[in-house]
Amino acid sequence: MTHKRIAVIGAGIIGVTTAFELALRGHQVTVFEKNQTCAEETSFANAGVISPGYVTPWASPSMPARLLKECFSKNTSFLMHFPNMTELQWLAKCWKASKAENYWIHRSALQRLALMSQARMKELSNLFRLEYEQLLGYNLVYRDAKAWEQALLALPYLSSQSIPYQLLSAQELMEKEPALESSTSLAGAIHLPQDQVANCRQFAMAIRDEAEKLGVEFRFKADVQALDPQQPRRVICGQEVLSFDATVVCAGTMTESILKAFDLKTGIMPIHGYSLTAMIKEPLDAPRCGLMDDKYKVTITRQGNRVRVGGVMELGGSSKEHNPKAIKTLYKVLEDWFPKASDWSQQVQVWKGARPMLAKGSPLICETPVKGVWLNAGHGSSGWALGCASAQLLAGMVDEEVTPDQWPELALR
Ligand SMILES: Cc1cc2nc3c(=O)[nH]c(=O)nc-3n(C[C@H](O)[C@H](O)[C@H](O)COP(=O)(O)OP(=O)(O)OC[C@H]3O[C@@H](n4cnc5c(N)ncnc54)[C@H](O)[C@@H]3O)c2cc1C
Repeated sequence: MTHKRIAVIGAGIIGVTTAFELALRGHQVTVFEKNQTCAEETSFANAGVISPGYVTPWASPSMPARLLKECFSKNTSFLMHFPNMTELQWLAKCWKASKAENYWIHRSALQRLALMSQARMKELSNLFRLEYEQLLGYNLVYRDAKAWEQALLALPYLSSQSIPYQLLSAQELMEKEPALESSTSLAGAIHLPQDQVANCRQFAMAIRDEAEKLGVEFRFKADVQALDPQQPRRVICGQEVLSFDATVVCAGTMTESILKAFDLKTGIMPIHGYSLTAMIKEPLDAPRCGLMDDKYKVTITRQGNRVRVGGVMELGGSSKEHNPKAIKTLYKVLEDWFPKASDWSQQVQVWKGARPMLAKGSPLICETPVKGVWLNAGHGSSGWALGCASAQLLAGMVDEEVTPDQWPELALR
């Protein structure tokens, strides 16, 4: 195998893990990141859930009806600004992707990737003795009978994928989560004992250290210009021009702008989301692991000595402007399930990030039609859960050990 000089653009969870896997195979890797350290954008304060049992494309068969209902709801998990043409076209693609036949293709690809990723994360954690606030167990909670019936329909799929689960009554859930508010109505819960919660940013920092030990050079405050189709493997950053044998774009929602001079569209759409994080007041009043409220698609997780509530999908708008409706939804879900977890009138970190979403649901892990320019991007709501396997696959493809036809769902079409 010939060792290559490879540029990785972006040091979120995807870029850092990609750089690590490439370096492990002996390649000479340079990472370019416009921020002053890694995991400063979407990988900064996500909900932290690693859930092979629940990973799913956003565009599901129930999505169109759900969105319609959300438009009239007081506490909403979906917000839309007046859409422009690109956003409308993207929504139309989502509608197409939500058809059952498309949905199941991408759901099973995501699940395969998530299981591989979890296994790789475990390997790396054991090998390097990594600590990143890992907790085992994830509870999916359903407030009403109709939603619960729907949830039960998905159980044969979990069984077919050998994903262990347990059905819980309200009483049984309280035994697992003693701080849970008992007055909130609950039709049933699914406990996924192998799914996890952990701190994405801490993991990215730890893998960056390991990558550096393997010789990876990280260049921070390095804002890379759009690639030039005439010399696509040349990276221009400030006054510097550097040449590589291959370039891997891991720039999350900014991937499209790096490829703007190329005649190709990735279809990655920024879908904003929010998280609130605060110190736990009394550990006994906080969640023990992760909880997903299916009605609002909001998660509550424990991350070390902090509690985090995250969710809401916002199409359009800017990263800087916080929508009070979104924040209200997060507080409502928190109040409903863990009202005493923290003192929310004290210091709260309010964060807004942009998920790099594709309508189809699964990410792009492939070589573009421009030889030597690769993509590892578009992981939507699950980049943390999919990161380690995405990096392994990309590195395997660069070394021609994994062929694109093994993973057709991840190709650029
Ligand atoms: C509210 C919320 C909750 C979430 N919860 C979960 C969860 O529970 N589980 C889960 O798996 N996922 C979750 N996600 C999704 C997950 O956070 C993302 O999928 C993941 O962080 C994407 O990682 P990334 O590396 O592709 O992007 P990023 O982390 O955004 O990294 C891209 C990097 O590229 C850099 N970059 C861009 N352009 C340039 C340039 N020109 N030059 C140099 N550098 C550049 C950026 O600065 C950035 O650091 C959540 C997301 C949100 C918003």
